[in-house]
Amino acid sequence: MLCYGVLFFWVIHIALGSIIVTDSEKSPSVIIVGAGAAGIAAASKLYQNGFKDVKIFEADGRIGGRIYSTLFHNQMVDMGGQWVHGEKGNIVFESAWPHGLLERGNFLDGQFELFDSSGKKMNQSVADDLKKFFFQTVDNLDQYAQRRNGPIGQHFLNEFEKYFKAHPYLKNDANGLLHLFDKIDMEEDGGDTWWDVSTRNVIQYIKSPGANQLNWKNRTYFTILDILMKRFPNPKEELPNMNNTILNSEVTLIYNNEKFDRVTVTTADGGIYSANHVIVTVSLGVLKEKHTKLFYPPLPSEKVKAINGMGFGNEAKIFLSFDKPWWKHKDPGFYFYWKDEDRAQIEKEPEKKWLLGLNRFSFVDHRPGLLYGWLSGNYSQEMELIPKEKVFNHIIEALQRFMGKHYNITKPTGMIRSKWNSKANFRGAYTYLLTNDILPSTLAQPIGKRKPRILFAGEATHSHFFSTVHGAIESGFREADRLIKLYPHLKNNKLSTN
Ligand SMILES: Cc1cc2nc3c(=O)[nH]c(=O)nc-3n(C[C@H](O)[C@H](O)[C@H](O)COP(=O)(O)OP(=O)(O)OC[C@H]3O[C@@H](n4cnc5c(N)ncnc54)[C@H](O)[C@@H]3O)c2cc1C
Repeated sequence: MLCYGVLFFWVIHIALGSIIVTDSEKSPSVIIVGAGAAGIAAASKLYQNGFKDVKIFEADGRIGGRIYSTLFHNQMVDMGGQWVHGEKGNIVFESAWPHGLLERGNFLDGQFELFDSSGKKMNQSVADDLKKFFFQTVDNLDQYAQRRNGPIGQHFLNEFEKYFKAHPYLKNDANGLLHLFDKIDMEEDGGDTWWDVSTRNVIQYIKSPGANQLNWKNRTYFTILDILMKRFPNPKEELPNMNNTILNSEVTLIYNNEKFDRVTVTTADGGIYSANHVIVTVSLGVLKEKHTKLFYPPLPSEKVKAINGMGFGNEAKIFLSFDKPWWKHKDPGFYFYWKDEDRAQIEKEPEKKWLLGLNRFSFVDHRPGLLYGWLSGNYSQEMELIPKEKVFNHIIEALQRFMGKHYNITKPTGMIRSKWNSKANFRGAYTYLLTNDILPSTLAQPIGKRKPRILFAGEATHSHFFSTVHGAIESGFREADRLIKLYPHLKNNKLSTN
């Protein structure tokens, strides 16, 4: 609910003309909320199409959002977006590949070793067969989704039941394996479990053909932001994104003033700004938590339905560094599953329960001496709340428990973990579709009576590339294009060709 005091303040400011009003059909102003991939992409496209008054407000102290490349033990790692998923029709691939920045790869090509919680390693040919079966089942999901409407978990359960019947020696491990493969699948699909994600998610999401996991070699995903802002390959062509980005500036209120054809934005430090258009790129997690406070007038019911009706999953990464690799395989992948009795025990330990979500530790491309662990679903949320020291110790314990009989595991020299859910500017990792009929296109609809005043971008608004960086970038371009079409005369002011 808008505070009347604030409203009064605005009225006075408008009357006195003290708000920064640069409104003119000739030179429209745009405020972008959020400097993640979508926000940076939208601003870049606007600058390249003659828009001069474009400002980005970013709540965090850095740009990039869920692209977060940071230094860990003298190597840069990606705490969020890491791989380019697919090639054809993928804007990231198409922008980066010609510069030789990417390498085709797939973590599935690495070693797949399965350990249970009693420390037993699964026979390698049995493990390889399970892996093959699982990824075939993932591939067949498309066909299943065409026929059925419901949670994707049903497809996996059907197929696994047949598999366990044909491989009765796995009977005692069935629950643990189902739990593990559910969590592995959620790495891609983003939900807590495969019972949350719908078959519509599978139909709606389009996989770009080509390699599914291209890495940035010695660089990180941040490179795509440099490309978008034209700092790469030629820094002399840099667009003015950075000069117009105000960091540590959380937008707390977006007021659509139809009467004045303006949108007014208030920031946490009390700043008041106004523009002809505002592009909102905050995550679906932030919208879920804050939309009632963030918008005035309140968002239309269809939009609220879309925000509440899409899933925003939780994922976490934990990187470990070692003096030197103790593993034998060049590209290791160590996967963990729980025996029923061990699971029952750990479920009673509130500070360790999160370990049930730790699927694996795998190699990191071009980062020798590092391994990274992946946690899916609500277990990642639980891990974020445990103090770092304890998480570190629990991991050492878990590595010993699962693999200690087979490897001479040295003590990690360091650990860094993501905290996407705990951070107020994200509140989760990425979008997935629940078992209802809500689609991202509803979230993408702009608001405004005469013109689109409040526009929405961000991965959650992309009709078929939701959850990805390339989806976020395309959504930013889409909303920039919407404004570019409104002001065709600006084309003559282009900064450079796009
Ligand atoms: C662990 C993890 C792994 C991933 N792996 C991959 C991968 O390998 N490949 C891939 O393609 N994608 C991956 N993704 C998804 C990808 O990172 C995101 O889809 C994409 O980066 C989202 O960009 P965005 O611009 O839509 O949103 P964001 O990056 O969330 O940008 C929104 C920005 O808004 C800011 N903000 C929030 N609230 C406010 C406010 N009130 N005022 C001002 N600013 C605000 C935030 O700080 C943020 O910078 C991964 C994500 C995670 C978390």
